[in-house]
Amino acid sequence: MTGKTRSKLDHYGKCPVCNCNWDGGSILDTFLEQKKKGHWTKETEDDIKRYVHSSYAAPYRWSNLIAIEKQGDDYISSHMCPECECEFPLFTEE
Ligand SMILES: [Zn+2]
Repeated sequence: MTGKTRSKLDHYGKCPVCNCNWDGGSILDTFLEQKKKGHWTKETEDDIKRYVHSSYAAPYRWSNLIAIEKQGDDYISSHMCPECECEFPLFTEE
């Protein structure tokens, strides 16, 4: 096998370098919390659930990883740990 493959980085797991947790919690919980504080006034909880499922990808959680775009590129090339600032390339050479 040659070429590039997408690295299997767990965006909601722990940093393999500094062991900090990248799981930023449930997206739905965040929005439901916002609703309690007065946002999302027109939407019901079911509306918000549908919105999360149509607008985000499974597992519908926030990741603390920082997406890095190289200058001049318009795509994400790697992710950076917010704690130790280690970079993890999105694609790895086979
Ligand atoms: Zn780290």
